[in-house]
Amino acid sequence: MTTESAQSLPFETEVQELLDLMIHSLYSHPEIFLRELISNASDACDKLRFEALTKPELGVDTTQLGIRLEADTEARTLTIVDDGIGMSRDELISNLGTIAGSGTRRLMRELKESGADERPELIGQFGVGFYASFMVADEVVVESLRAGEEQGHRWSSKADGRYTIEDAEGLERGTRITLHLKDAGEDGQDFTAEHVLRGLVKRYSDFVEYPIRMGDDTLNSRKPVWARPKSDVTEEEYADFYKHLSHDFHDPLETIHFKAEGSTEYTALLYIPAQRPFDLFREQQPHSKLSLYVKRVLITGECKELLPSWLRFVRGVVEAADLPLNVSREILQSNPHMRAIKKRLTKKVLASLASILKDDRERYAGFWKEFGSVLKEGICLGEDEDGAIAELCLFESSRGEGLTTLAEAVERMPEGQPAIYTVTGPDRETLDASPHVAAYKQRGYEVLYLTEPIDEWMIDRLTSFQDKPLRSVHAVDEDLLSDSEKEAVSAAAEEHAQLVEKLQEHFGDRLAEVRFSGRLADAPAMLGTKDGALRPHMDRAFAETHGGGMSAERVLELNPNHPLVARLSELAAKGGSDFADRADLLYGQALLAEGSPVPDPARFSKLIVDLLEKA
Ligand code: ADP
Ligand code: MG
Repeated sequence: MTTESAQSLPFETEVQELLDLMIHSLYSHPEIFLRELISNASDACDKLRFEALTKPELGVDTTQLGIRLEADTEARTLTIVDDGIGMSRDELISNLGTIAGSGTRRLMRELKESGADERPELIGQFGVGFYASFMVADEVVVESLRAGEEQGHRWSSKADGRYTIEDAEGLERGTRITLHLKDAGEDGQDFTAEHVLRGLVKRYSDFVEYPIRMGDDTLNSRKPVWARPKSDVTEEEYADFYKHLSHDFHDPLETIHFKAEGSTEYTALLYIPAQRPFDLFREQQPHSKLSLYVKRVLITGECKELLPSWLRFVRGVVEAADLPLNVSREILQSNPHMRAIKKRLTKKVLASLASILKDDRERYAGFWKEFGSVLKEGICLGEDEDGAIAELCLFESSRGEGLTTLAEAVERMPEGQPAIYTVTGPDRETLDASPHVAAYKQRGYEVLYLTEPIDEWMIDRLTSFQDKPLRSVHAVDEDLLSDSEKEAVSAAAEEHAQLVEKLQEHFGDRLAEVRFSGRLADAPAMLGTKDGALRPHMDRAFAETHGGGMSAERVLELNPNHPLVARLSELAAKGGSDFADRADLLYGQALLAEGSPVPDPARFSKLIVDLLEKA
């Protein structure tokens, strides 16, 4: 039924790629197409209701909105009808022919790289819902009349790279989507069978607020999950609603459902996912994405103002009673109710994490692996006001395998340990071998391992815990030594004053200082940093991004008890090239031991070969 207005247009390349993926790779859950189409129909009703508030001239009665399923077993068609907002010609083109968000492009790349079969949960995270129809249909026809417009349109495609768009007459407001179903195959479900459709609506869309009718029956119970009393909702219903919200295929790790009364009234249903969505770290400006409803009307599906960005992995719904329906972004930002809700929700989520940590360590470790580094952003941003995030952090440590909290580390501290010690580095293996760590372990002190890039920033903010200072083992540390150790250090400094002086002369600008130190265990020397100077790990990151070498704020610490130091002292007295070579070797091995590169590897290896020859 092509009319004169008919126009055949190509899909954006990415759309066709996505369609091919859906058709060929993702048939393990074809039935989710219905959930996606019903969710779009419900969104369309939400949008109409919202628009009707601000445009009374539309003159629509929004109390009777609904969704209808029409199945024809003979013709093998399934039609999903809504009387929501509809789409104009331009909207049909841009909504159904292009991929709007850059996120979807990334998703495409991700799917290609990781193999879509293994990551079906990725589909849907970026609003590719409509295209799911092509998993079950070989032709899809969308007829739509936009609220407030006279002319309707028909969009159709066979997923062959193109779609057709034309004028259509006699449509009612809203959208009719007709799927020409593929053959179900041997064990496939028949999506025209009433019992199949009933089952799918019940399973995936029961809480949709608008009636979903088939014939004279309403298939869904309609009451939104969050508005029902907790005792009425089963685990499965909670999980299904989570999957609907998040497009996740897995059950949530935790569900938080409560009603707040008093000066600010609202209901919140929050979920902590079990697995991180792949875009968690990919956004330019990460923000929280809860849905905000006011008196059953969806205001926004991505409300930034309800949780801090470092809880952006939380999914869910907040329905507030005390906001005006036509709230704008500006109002959301400045509204005192919103601020009160945010504060309370933040507390609730942190408290819930704290109780998982307390009651079920294994489950918490699972959470930490997925979202720990996001939580740490809160500390970095200076938003961990009462230390609640610090309580929730897990660390590896010199104690051995397994993770520890700060509180547990403090509890284990032996009498007299002046600080909580930390070390930053690339991984456990490197840190286990670090001379810095050895010096503390030898005293029976535990060192916490900070191995994530964000830790460098976090540790600048996290300077104390339960009144104990946090201190990096890289920093030159005076407090560590007993009086007798201090005496031994100054005795060595006096005895080998010439060595220190010659070394300082030799290294010049390369080092800030050479000194004897009491904190070395077995190593002859190591590199500390002046208090406040960059730690080596971060220093290196800085050098990589800004060019230039290591910063000069390093201190070469010598072990007064090491025989090599005494030998070097003799060479210093003699002077000559032997001394310079040995000094460079000592410095080079100190760099290697902490996982830093040596500045002139060719010279360093030549020095080693020479040494081996002499030996
Ligand atoms: P999402 O729903 O995540 O935005 P979809 O692929 O499901 O992604 O839908 C794409 C867009 O098409 C929607 O955002 C909406 O603008 C439009 N759309 C889809 N179905 C309908 C409908 N029944 N009524 C009005 N608009 C619709
Ligand atoms: Mg959708």
